[in-house]
Amino acid sequence: MAKAVIALGSNLGDRQAHLARALSFLSMLGTTHPLASSIYETEPVGDASTHPYFNAVCEVETELDAMSLLEALKAYERDYGRDPASPRWSNRTIDLDIIDYDRQVISRQRLHVPHPEYHMRLFVLVPLQEILPGWRDVRTGEPVDALITASPKIEVSKTSLKW
Ligand code: ADP
Ligand code: MG
Repeated sequence: MAKAVIALGSNLGDRQAHLARALSFLSMLGTTHPLASSIYETEPVGDASTHPYFNAVCEVETELDAMSLLEALKAYERDYGRDPASPRWSNRTIDLDIIDYDRQVISRQRLHVPHPEYHMRLFVLVPLQEILPGWRDVRTGEPVDALITASPKIEVSKTSLKW
């Protein structure tokens, strides 16, 4: 079994329902229930993204290899309404990114792990620190607290919403 850290985001429609449905999909990838952060509300980043996001991070156990996991996440995104032709950073019902896959460094055309931009995204780092406070970047060894300090500052608010 591999342990994967996945970041979830939604800024269209019923954002809480989109996250909850994605978490139950992720729970079916493994035998144990995912370790999930609180749900956070965050300001949109980038010009094409206009609505506030709900974001969360979870750790799942999976028997899928890294590329199969990426395929499964992309298939889920396709099934749940995100137009694959839409520009990056645009509004989306659900975005699922692989932040860490079993402490491996992966450099493939379609998959980079650790995710290439996660360290610039406070909406990933803050929920990641909540569930895995001792987590470190497998490539640089940098702890999540230091990454939070160095990341561009955006509004990230923990909500009391339940999954
Ligand atoms: P982002 O999530 O960075 O805002 P997208 O969700 O549009 O952007 O992803 C664009 C592409 O990034 C995906 O089609 C995927 O092939 C690629 N990609 C590379 N590394 C990863 C990763 N670790 N997790 C998810 N997607 C990744
Ligand atoms: Mg993505």
